[in-house]
Amino acid sequence: MGETALEIGANTFAFFTRNPRGGNVKPLDEADAAALAKLAAEHCFGPLVAHAPYTMNLCSANEQTVDFARRAMAEDLARLESLPGNYYNFHPGSHVKQGVDCGIELICEGLNQVLEPGLSTTVLLETMAGKGSEVGRSFEELARIVDGTRHNELLGVCLDTCHVSDAGYDIAHDLDSVLTEFDRVIGLERLKALHLNDSKNPCGARKDRHEKIGQGHLGTSCFAAIVREPRLNNLPMILETPNDLDGYANEIALLRGLASGAAEEVEA
Ligand code: FE
Ligand code: FE
Ligand code: ZN
Repeated sequence: MGETALEIGANTFAFFTRNPRGGNVKPLDEADAAALAKLAAEHCFGPLVAHAPYTMNLCSANEQTVDFARRAMAEDLARLESLPGNYYNFHPGSHVKQGVDCGIELICEGLNQVLEPGLSTTVLLETMAGKGSEVGRSFEELARIVDGTRHNELLGVCLDTCHVSDAGYDIAHDLDSVLTEFDRVIGLERLKALHLNDSKNPCGARKDRHEKIGQGHLGTSCFAAIVREPRLNNLPMILETPNDLDGYANEIALLRGLASGAAEEVEA
């Protein structure tokens, strides 16, 4: 994974801790993990952003699903100690008709069971688009999860640009106000990583359909503002756009160009 990242000009990346749609984990190759940690240090990588499986739902109405989510998260965090000091990003969950209050309570209960002092990984709540009954669409919901979690010194937030726009935060036209709002409600010190995705849908659509950078409703100007924003430009930025490896290499080059101001005349 580290070598592939280097080939496309990346200095961080995301990876699934297990099959994103399934439950099983491969046995851990400690030597491989150590080799990755060494490569990442040698090439000055930023924190890596591991992603929990999509099937993990800490606030499902189904007890077995909740059980699996708690076990999988505990197991993933134990395994990530082989690659210490990185991030573990997860979708807070979908409350499936139980209501958002119940959802938040269950998420906090799960995190209280799983998060132990001494873990070197920071666990990131992802901002969600608000599709279906997703919890974490608003900054307020994320703040309530942070507040309800005992060891919340281990918690941070990963802001997904497609999701926040779909959730109704107009980052395409007013990044500054969205960051000010994030700071007011959650605190910018909690913001640890970004998912950079354009959106196939307009602000507030709640659809969660990622688009290539610059080809959706956010547009190139939004990403230029993000990579030039001092409150953001030191965070790991992860692409989850519909692309192959060459496509990602091109987007990384595009974003680096925008960051260095190479594309001065980005349309406003
Ligand atoms: Fe995600
Ligand atoms: Fe994402
Ligand atoms: Zn998404």
